[in-house]
Amino acid sequence: ILGWTLGLLVLGLHSSTREGQFMPKGREIIRYIRKRKETVDWVHSWKQTLFLLLEDVPFHLRQIIASISIDGTSATTMIIDSTTGEPLWRPFLYNESCPDALPIVKSIAPENHTVCSGSSTLCKLVSWWNTVDSNKESAALLHQADWLLWLLHGNLGVTDYNNALKVGYDPELDSYPPWLLSQSYSQLLPSVKAPGTPIGILKEDIRTQYGFAKDCIVCTGTTDSIAAFLAARATKPGKAVTSLGSTLAIKLLSTGRVDDARYGVYSHRLDDKWLVGGASNTGGAVLRQIFTDEQLENLSEQINPMKTSPLDYYPLPTVGERFPMADPEMAPRLHPRPESDVEYLHGILESIARIEAKAYSLLKDLGATQVEEVFTAGGGAKNEKWTKIRERVLGLPVSRALQTEAAYGAALLALKGAQQCAQ
Ligand code: ADP
Repeated sequence: ILGWTLGLLVLGLHSSTREGQFMPKGREIIRYIRKRKETVDWVHSWKQTLFLLLEDVPFHLRQIIASISIDGTSATTMIIDSTTGEPLWRPFLYNESCPDALPIVKSIAPENHTVCSGSSTLCKLVSWWNTVDSNKESAALLHQADWLLWLLHGNLGVTDYNNALKVGYDPELDSYPPWLLSQSYSQLLPSVKAPGTPIGILKEDIRTQYGFAKDCIVCTGTTDSIAAFLAARATKPGKAVTSLGSTLAIKLLSTGRVDDARYGVYSHRLDDKWLVGGASNTGGAVLRQIFTDEQLENLSEQINPMKTSPLDYYPLPTVGERFPMADPEMAPRLHPRPESDVEYLHGILESIARIEAKAYSLLKDLGATQVEEVFTAGGGAKNEKWTKIRERVLGLPVSRALQTEAAYGAALLALKGAQQCAQ
């Protein structure tokens, strides 16, 4: 994705272990990878995709690209050799759990800290540390985005404070906490900069091979969900993005930090503000269990969004909810089903909107800035009737985010870095 802004051309790349890349050759590779998931060499495929993406940039634009940044899947972790940068171990993917490390991490971290989840980066690091006997002295930890950026700038050992959150970095103190630094494996931790900070010039061999400018800089990145938030350009406290994908995820820009492990709510730092987020299990997955996408479109057309639906559901795909109600036993409530499918869908959409309203209200109760405006991303964003229902239920302006691609958010970080260099 290329972002033209202020006469600068910046390049943001989205690297994900979950989704495809956005450019043609990248997509082909991901399709190929999906087919042979079991045998895939992730590191090789990420590297290959990165360089194919650079090749996809039209030749005549390469000379005027000022800056590059990359977002990657949060908690996708690599253990590499600190001098050569080569992986010492297969990468730990974002959703991989390391239950063996969890009790150890819980014994050193503060209660309910973000790292106290089996899939946190810190659990992955501890699990690796306790598994291997050799190469410990020469090892270093990087996240997926950091490693791909390293391929471009060549300075090993740099990350950003968004990616570093799940390894235990404290973005408020702007340092790793003492309980982490006192561990022997803390020597593997990368140095941390703000997202969008220039790290170095694009490596000369890459510049010359691909025809990029000699002053093209490479900047620190962020995680994929933060990049998607940045893409919506919700830059003032009170602005929020609701993602209506398979689940309902909300992210609100706040002046204050809010963390509450009971609801899975935590905050990422964004310069002098905080991005507070939480995710409900309700969302599009439930709609898909009942209707096809075509039915959703046709039935939605017939809904009168100004009318309040009397139906009160709690749509969940399976038992259990975390946010805005923390109840692992909560059962889905989708009855009574009226004869009319239009009324049924209206009731479900309105019930999901009420959960969304409750979610924003809980964030406010927990101390976040009051929400003022909501941008929408994800598959549900195209449903205009639902947008109208949500506007009524939330009592707020709701609109579709103009940009939702994470790569666009990464390009905005690249722009930030380029502007810093220009000052
Ligand atoms: P994810 O990336 O989480 O898989 P997407 O952002 O691709 O999700 O959105 C897919 C979801 O969008 C599906 O679960 C589907 O139910 C929902 N969806 C698709 N079309 C509509 C529509 N017209 N109205 C509401 N929801 C829709």
